[in-house]
Amino acid sequence: VQHREVVTDFADQLHQEFMQPIQLQGRSISTPLSIGIAFTQPGYDHKAEDLLRDAHTAMYRAKALGKARHEVFATGMLTEVLNRLQLESDMRKGMEKSEFSLNYQPIVSLKTGRIAGFEALARWLQDQRRSISPVAFIPVAEETGLIVPLGQWIFEEACTQAQRWQTEFSDANLSMSINLSSRQFAQADLAEQLSQILQKTQVQGKHIKIEITESMVMGDMDAAIDLMLNLKTLNLHLGIDDFGTGYSSLSYLHRFPMDTLKVDRSFVSRMEESSEDYEIVRTIITLGHNLGMDVVAEGVETNSQVKLLRELGCEYGQGYFFARPLTAEAASALLRQNPKW
Ligand code: C2E
Ligand code: MG
Ligand code: MG
Repeated sequence: VQHREVVTDFADQLHQEFMQPIQLQGRSISTPLSIGIAFTQPGYDHKAEDLLRDAHTAMYRAKALGKARHEVFATGMLTEVLNRLQLESDMRKGMEKSEFSLNYQPIVSLKTGRIAGFEALARWLQDQRRSISPVAFIPVAEETGLIVPLGQWIFEEACTQAQRWQTEFSDANLSMSINLSSRQFAQADLAEQLSQILQKTQVQGKHIKIEITESMVMGDMDAAIDLMLNLKTLNLHLGIDDFGTGYSSLSYLHRFPMDTLKVDRSFVSRMEESSEDYEIVRTIITLGHNLGMDVVAEGVETNSQVKLLRELGCEYGQGYFFARPLTAEAASALLRQNPKW
């Protein structure tokens, strides 16, 4: 090729073609493509396998950046790949050494001002000193498949904690929200796995809320809806996380058997200064209510945000204003204090 644009334009064209839904056994399916592109450098003798490796690296990068896009290889990507490999091997060791734990962040009822439940958030303390954010390790766990054993551990640990709190604070009717990632959600036997853990930990499904994000249900919507309905047979509650940031498939939203909508914290954090963000929050709350869902605002940091959210009829709030994610012990202590906001 004479110009790089020839290749990138072609990639764009491919995306468009593949995003056209095709009909498969009565279902409408679109295929987001991730494309990696590598160019030869002038004056450099490339081996075919090197070019393929670079194209592969660029493709993984495209996947990591959210799929349905193309990336052109750059040398910096190789260091990134090495870092990732290191992270993956550290994670495997970390799982063996029980370096993972869960924190719990209160979700507060804006009607009563009391703690209504918690969200379980994964934590990794490597070698007892370096704490690594889930934003860094969950995607790697996803790509490598480690998310499957890790996710099962997270689910079981959160259920065990939920059961302890059900026993100690039986009047509080606490819920436990647990995040699922797309790879977990794609497992055909997910409902079975979760059902076994519920039995083992003696937790009723109605106390557990599964959080999924919009991007997880892209692609085969009908299959996603089937999976959700499967989970509903266990009486699990379902919630959409980070709402407003992904590919909002509004035409499908009313078909999702969702109980809650979580407004992404980016809108909540700006709702005081920006009238646009305020409008977005207001609209999402109305949308949720019209579809029969409760709404949770995440990332609540100030008292005036709480006031605005209460005015808008938002049911729940979660954020540093109420509490940061806490260890199980600290969360138990908070429950004993029974604070009212
Ligand atoms: P998320 O599910 O949207 O979780 C909320 C994130 O917002 C948490 O970050 C929480 O600590 C943070 N947060 C809560 N209140 C505030 C606030 O007032 N201000 C600000 N600036 N941030 C607040 P965290 O714990 O770092 O988790 C990040 C993401 O990692 C989560 O986003 C979730 O997508 C993922 N994640 C965490 N734990 C798990 C897990 O067990 N499984 C899976 N699949 N994903 C997880
Ligand atoms: Mg979440
Ligand atoms: Mg969220």
